Amino acid sequence: MKLSNYYIPTLKEAPKDADTLSAKLMIRAGLIRKLASGLYEWLPLGLRVLKKVENIVREEMDRAGACEVWLPVVQPKELWEESGRWKYYGKELLRFADRKEADFCLAPTAEEVMTDLVRKDTSSYKQLPFCLYQFGTKFRDEIRPRFGVMRAREFYMKDAYSFAATDEDASAWYQKMYDAYQRIFTRCGFEFKAVEADTGSIGGNFSHEFMVLADTGEDAIANCPACGYAANTEKAEVLPPEAITINASDLKPMMLKDTPGAYTVEDVAKMLQVSPEKLIKLLLFTADGKPVVALMRGDHELNEFKLKALLKCTELEKASEELYMKVTGSSVGFAGPQGLKEKNPGLQIFADYNVQNIMNGVCGGNEKDKHMINVTPMRDISVDRYADLKIASPGDKCARCGKEFTFTRGIEAGHVFKLGTKYSQAMHATFLDEKQMAKPFIMGCYGIGISRVVAAAIEQSHDESGIIWPAPLAPFDVALVAIDYDTNSEVKKYADEICATLEAKGLSVLLDDRDERPGVKFKDMDLIGLPHRLVISTRTVKDRQCEYKKRSEKEAIRWDLSEAVVKLLDVVRK
Ligand code: ATP
Ligand code: MG
Repeated sequence: MKLSNYYIPTLKEAPKDADTLSAKLMIRAGLIRKLASGLYEWLPLGLRVLKKVENIVREEMDRAGACEVWLPVVQPKELWEESGRWKYYGKELLRFADRKEADFCLAPTAEEVMTDLVRKDTSSYKQLPFCLYQFGTKFRDEIRPRFGVMRAREFYMKDAYSFAATDEDASAWYQKMYDAYQRIFTRCGFEFKAVEADTGSIGGNFSHEFMVLADTGEDAIANCPACGYAANTEKAEVLPPEAITINASDLKPMMLKDTPGAYTVEDVAKMLQVSPEKLIKLLLFTADGKPVVALMRGDHELNEFKLKALLKCTELEKASEELYMKVTGSSVGFAGPQGLKEKNPGLQIFADYNVQNIMNGVCGGNEKDKHMINVTPMRDISVDRYADLKIASPGDKCARCGKEFTFTRGIEAGHVFKLGTKYSQAMHATFLDEKQMAKPFIMGCYGIGISRVVAAAIEQSHDESGIIWPAPLAPFDVALVAIDYDTNSEVKKYADEICATLEAKGLSVLLDDRDERPGVKFKDMDLIGLPHRLVISTRTVKDRQCEYKKRSEKEAIRWDLSEAVVKLLDVVRK
């Protein structure tokens, strides 16, 4: 492919609103352009990478025995009502009406449509198990689209759905997909890790996320160096601290203190000269409409997923300022748990295990500008249940083996879920078993953000000059830079010849035949990041030579033109 005929609009500078390294490089290298918030156009070079990822994923889905289908991106409301998600999916679901005023949404995922498709044609256990997958556009009206195509509103996904008659078959499909994902991300050339994860709005009861490891990743991962447990910190189970022995003689009487204007943990700790570990934060939520209190140590963050799982509720929302006033009698920063049960019959109070060990601590005084000191929860607060409610953080230990966690960051590239019968039951999607009994399908679902994978590859592999594609994802295998292509017929002859031979051997070659200064050509090629570069110029041709450089290495070496093709094939195929 000649660059002069190709469309690669590279830029010297990234636009101001590009907020992450991969977004900047994808725009500068001419892979994508932004149309509007969270909406991107894919240009030829970007699309080639997207297709490379898609092909790897397709090959591995097929190898695993899944069958490809193609479903509409516009989905009818009725199916979402059957699953109950029309109500619960929230504002990420883009809803609209057609000319007949019938309601539809744009697919953020396809559990409903796939379940509907399968129930129409599958009636017997003899037809099971199987797995269907598709590639397609997904739309999620993300609250904060960011990081370029990594958190876009419209993006490209592979989603697969398995249907089984028995738990064993369902688990076997989960494992097949898990193994396929291992192969996919290995083939992409990634450093990655499969971690246990929360099941989020997809629901279900078990899931793993495949994380591409990168310091810039949005997700934090807790790893146990001893037992190998690894989980998203949204999910990671933390070992409860050992309960301390509380001696009554060490406890001081509770007392209300003035803390004018101090309502953040830092301000209160500073004003009362105590460490944040002594503070008890009160967080008020509504769980399916009912108020619920969670207590956390001042220096710990509440994990809402854990609270939600504990409450088994479908909707957990932060309480409004009015509700704080109603339940506690004060605003957020001065709310405390003492006396709340008496004031609010039926109110449930949950606390993180670490709160149990606070002695002579501090909490809100339930009055403006006041805090209560010398609070000892075991003595002073009626808590319904102590539980693991914190987001795992440095210092925390693994709940399974007690060793201290290490932390890394990652980009979630894929997700596998065991769904069980959540959708099939709600949507009455059943088959007849051996005894002619109607049973709901046991399902699994498996997503990979194909467009996010492209950005993740860049986050993991780049330098100050630009992208360094892992070879399997590179848009072209070889950059052939011809200097003086238009003015030196020998350069042109060799460049054309080598390009044609390499292409005939099955490599993809981007031949830079433009009338540009060498510096411009090298900069562009470094930015685009093709794994191998061959330079042919008046200078090298004089010696019947060319220059070879790997994108990831600094030094170029000289090769005789007569051996260039053989040597290049050799390095590419290594
Ligand atoms: P996240 O926690 O990042 O929002 P999710 O759990 O909502 O992801 P899934 O519903 O499991 O994501 O979707 C499957 C895959 O689709 C994810 O693993 C991710 O690679 C990709 N994906 C999800 N949301 C986006 C988005 N807004 N932009 C690009 N890719 C996305
Ligand atoms: Mg999401």
